[in-house]
Amino acid sequence: MEQQDTGLDTPARIDTGKPHPARMYDWFLGGKDNYPADEELGRQLVGFAPDIPVMARMNRAFMHRATRWVAGQGVRQFLDIGTGIPTEPNLHQVAQEIAPDARVVYCDNDPIVLAHSEALLRGTSEGGVDYVQADARDTAAILEHARRTLDFDRPIALSLIALLHFISNEDGAYELVEHLKEALAPGSYLIISHLTPDFHPEEASRKVTDLYKAGGLTMDMRSRERFARFFEGLEPVAPGIVAAEDWHPELGEPVPGQEDVRSGAYVAVARKN
Ligand code: SAH
Repeated sequence: MEQQDTGLDTPARIDTGKPHPARMYDWFLGGKDNYPADEELGRQLVGFAPDIPVMARMNRAFMHRATRWVAGQGVRQFLDIGTGIPTEPNLHQVAQEIAPDARVVYCDNDPIVLAHSEALLRGTSEGGVDYVQADARDTAAILEHARRTLDFDRPIALSLIALLHFISNEDGAYELVEHLKEALAPGSYLIISHLTPDFHPEEASRKVTDLYKAGGLTMDMRSRERFARFFEGLEPVAPGIVAAEDWHPELGEPVPGQEDVRSGAYVAVARKN
């Protein structure tokens, strides 16, 4: 593994004083790689919206199902940006269960994920796994690194799972997705999950957004229309844009407790022709 300073404003060290999305997400999932600042904001959010931990698992379960689905379409290369702290099974384990030769490149901008990247890099001998620390907006650096492992003349599944709501329009959310889409060969897939205010009372979504903002974090829950814009120019795969729990549920097991919960996330998969 190589360590590279490719992020736009990637902190050089792990800053534990303020909450970070990867560590808060880890806290929601019951992990140990989080700090008091993450737990504090996490507790405030869960105090207000107790279903968040189940929602986080529902999002993760969508990632598993979508990965299985694209692997089932014959895709053998995966680029996953906003990977998060390793949580078994990780994407490469899901993909390599179906296709042992699958190659995966992970990317995150949180140095704590880099610190755990060995767990991400445990690939099968046939396939290959790599990790790049970079900001999602630094698409040039991500692509340059990814080309060492992935063949961009062949289909790639690009997954942006629970990432883009942390990046505002002003910060270039749409531009980064366009750059990445341009780099993909025909037959590639774009997989996105994204928080939305559409499934919950407006007041609740506003409160969650405000809590993130108070913690110094961007939270842009996008509407269906704004979510759909990420897929412009691609062919949607059935069932189109749906809540995470409604996307091919037959490809996995339901998350305990999800019966009464709306995930609060739009998901979709689309193909580049
Ligand atoms: N994809 C994982 C983790 C989601 S949490 C899953 O769904 O299980 C969101 C992740 O995006 C965190 O790991 C966070 O560090 C990362 N992230 C947030 N903003 C980012 C940015 N600008 N560039 C790269 N990664 C980012």
